[in-house]
Amino acid sequence: MAAPRHRVVVVGSGFGGLFGTKALKGADVDVTMVAKTTHHLFQPLLYQVATGILSEGEIAPPTREILSSQRNAQVLLGTVTGIDLDARTVTSHVLGRETVTAYDSLIVAAGAKQSYFGNDQFSEYAPGMKSIDDALELRGRIFGAFEMAELGANRGEDVDSLLTFVVVGAGPTGVEMAGQIAELAHRTLRRDFRSINTRSARVILLDAAPQVLPPFGVKLGAKAQQELEKLGVEVVLGAMVTDVDEGAITVQHKDGRTERIVCATKIWAAGVQASSLGRTLSEQSGAPLDRAGRIAVNPDLTLPGYPEVFVVGDMIALDNLPGVAQVAIQGAKYAAKTIDGRLKGRQPLEPFKYFDKGSMAIISRFRAVALIGKLRLTGVIAWLMWLALHLIYITGFKSRVTALLHWFVSFLGRGRSERTTTEQQVYARAALGRLKGGAADLVSSPGAYDAAQAMLEISRRQQELEDRASEEARLTDAGERGVKTEER
Ligand SMILES: Cc1cc2nc3c(=O)[nH]c(=O)nc-3n(C[C@H](O)[C@H](O)[C@H](O)COP(=O)(O)OP(=O)(O)OC[C@H]3O[C@@H](n4cnc5c(N)ncnc54)[C@H](O)[C@@H]3O)c2cc1C
Repeated sequence: MAAPRHRVVVVGSGFGGLFGTKALKGADVDVTMVAKTTHHLFQPLLYQVATGILSEGEIAPPTREILSSQRNAQVLLGTVTGIDLDARTVTSHVLGRETVTAYDSLIVAAGAKQSYFGNDQFSEYAPGMKSIDDALELRGRIFGAFEMAELGANRGEDVDSLLTFVVVGAGPTGVEMAGQIAELAHRTLRRDFRSINTRSARVILLDAAPQVLPPFGVKLGAKAQQELEKLGVEVVLGAMVTDVDEGAITVQHKDGRTERIVCATKIWAAGVQASSLGRTLSEQSGAPLDRAGRIAVNPDLTLPGYPEVFVVGDMIALDNLPGVAQVAIQGAKYAAKTIDGRLKGRQPLEPFKYFDKGSMAIISRFRAVALIGKLRLTGVIAWLMWLALHLIYITGFKSRVTALLHWFVSFLGRGRSERTTTEQQVYARAALGRLKGGAADLVSSPGAYDAAQAMLEISRRQQELEDRASEEARLTDAGERGVKTEER
């Protein structure tokens, strides 16, 4: 029997997970990607799903489909709940079903989640923006607020709070969300309602920092603020959120004043916290975590004391690398190359070096800011660059074509192609959160399941199919198929 191949387990199907898996395509390894969603998510365009420009399918294609032609890769659905560094196993769960997957090399790319800076209770009324669920919930809340305002206005009620939208966090995501809600109110929806004037909606962008888009520098930050204000967004800086409830957000201004902003729709786009798997790795390896829960790794992205374990992307604290897609992509490719090189007996690579390709933020149609090296771009040129780059990076030809079509509809026209919302989009998160075991409480408990045996069975069946296919090919080539006419 042939010796088993080197097993690589990849945790996560985001930028790090997907690009790491793809980079192992030609390597003599078996890759198992374990991820808690069945899709790869292009997070930079989540705000466009939330504001009705794109569909969720366009930014979140099925990982299984992307990897369908990569013969050495398989995908397992499951939330990783444990990593045992000594036993070299990863334990994952889905709907109460547990799977234990063994590895020889491990790439952990579980990313980050929204941080409420110790006030997780804010999340009930101020959803974050990290997942398809978040974006669809926000879509339901934003479009729903206009609907409720129309109803209220019909009944003669005060609808100011329904027409007030507060975005917390003036980083790229907050800027993009505020800009898009302003465009919705002032352009897209202005003719659709009879009892409210959507143009009277207030869009407020709040941040405790003294400027918009801090990583872009003072000049571009000021330019972005100016553009947002032209769109009608109220930019409030130096304002710290101290409370969030169903009806309002309370802030403390830098002069000590406290203000309660009455608003129905709140969006949290401030702060991230690395995946809790960082803590699991830290507890076993002794590698320290920083305040955002990111784990310190070696310059070759390995976990101290565990050269077979790589951590990449938003989870790592190394040389002040930013939490951006390119850090995850380049880190994952580096880890894959190291694993392949080791199997081929090559010299270790030089330490990981991040190549900064620049950053961009879109403000509204035809308006964006970009920082590429020392080059600062604004306006239409930056916007066109943003458009071209995002088209390149969206996964799959089909999604690129439909996204382009939807951008035409939204940017050249007035429409939004994806305005469908449902009650469940808005309330399912809270409902599931009230169940002790989450969605697992809604299904029958699983019978005994031997994951290792099941994986062996899958491999056996695959081998059987491959043998049958090669036998068929041999018969065809040898002309031994069918009945020869002269023998009749
Ligand atoms: C709204 C938004 C806008 C952004 N805009 C930009 C931008 O314009 N440009 C840019 O460069 N960057 C942007 N970023 C940042 C960028 O998306 C991240 O830096 C990048 O996704 C990090 O890649 P990653 O692989 O580390 O994590 P992710 O891409 O987040 O992937 C993490 C993966 O792990 C999975 N996962 C998490 N926990 C578990 C678990 N316990 N078990 C199994 N699977 C798990 C997740 O489901 C996901 O598949 C943005 C982020 C957000 C949220």
